[in-house]
Amino acid sequence: MINLHSHLEGRVRPSTAAELSGRGGWEEALQLDGPADLTVYLRKVASTYPLFGSFDALHRIAKEAVEDAAADGEHYLELRFGPSTHVREGFGLDDVIAAVCDGMAEGSRVSGMPSGAVVAILRSDPTELNEAVARAATRSAAVGFDLAGDELLYPELERYVDAFAIARASGLGLTCHAAEAGPASAALDAADLFGVTRIGHGAHIVDDPDVLARVADRGLVVEVCPSSNWFTGAIASVTDHPAPRFRDAGVPLVLGDDNPRQTGSLLSNERRILADDLGFDAAALAALDEVSIAASFMSDAGRVALRAR
Ligand SMILES: [Zn+2]
Repeated sequence: MINLHSHLEGRVRPSTAAELSGRGGWEEALQLDGPADLTVYLRKVASTYPLFGSFDALHRIAKEAVEDAAADGEHYLELRFGPSTHVREGFGLDDVIAAVCDGMAEGSRVSGMPSGAVVAILRSDPTELNEAVARAATRSAAVGFDLAGDELLYPELERYVDAFAIARASGLGLTCHAAEAGPASAALDAADLFGVTRIGHGAHIVDDPDVLARVADRGLVVEVCPSSNWFTGAIASVTDHPAPRFRDAGVPLVLGDDNPRQTGSLLSNERRILADDLGFDAAALAALDEVSIAASFMSDAGRVALRAR
């Protein structure tokens, strides 16, 4: 099981949140009530931001996120996070990214499960800040780069082009949340403007048969997260998730659990949904595993080791 779309801010343990904040009630506070829209969903995730206030807190949350994924039976985790929301006076972008990368490395060492950090810029952030995040990412141990945030409120992509160019020039793997709340065309725009090889969610790609065919032709990999799409209102129910239509159109697919603490669904359950609710048989799941290894942002040596497992 390979998890290629998961957010650090969506994997905080309630017990850790209680210790870091000095108050309880986090089990309920972190969990979403039910389906709404992307803005409501992201507000829930953002309620964790005050917890990430120090090197030790970031390091601990990142380490535990890796350990929890390993305990879920996962074999590799790509963990993304937006460093700009966690900077403090005297604790800058490089410090935030280092804390997360160090914590993840420690979690991988303890659990035996490899992991890779993906630095995300945020749609709501100023352009200069996003470019500073990109430069910090290139100086770090991160393996990938992403654009996250509210596609409903900030659909325009042009102003992130330079940040992606910085990340691309340094060889970071590239992905982008697109066609999650926005239209199908946003996925192709992200590929054209940023050079991404993967699209986060892409649930609306199937709304346009022409775009769907072009995504398949280009081999753009779609990171599917069924439960998340239900909570954000992108689909009416998990059984309506477009994963079977992607599969039938020949779009390469990988799986993620996005924000499992908020949705209550870890990767193992997302995989169960593919098998039980969306008709993915053993061959389709094996194809997904192979695409996941090939499309991951890990090193070639890491890929060889993962295939062996
Ligand atoms: Zn996401």
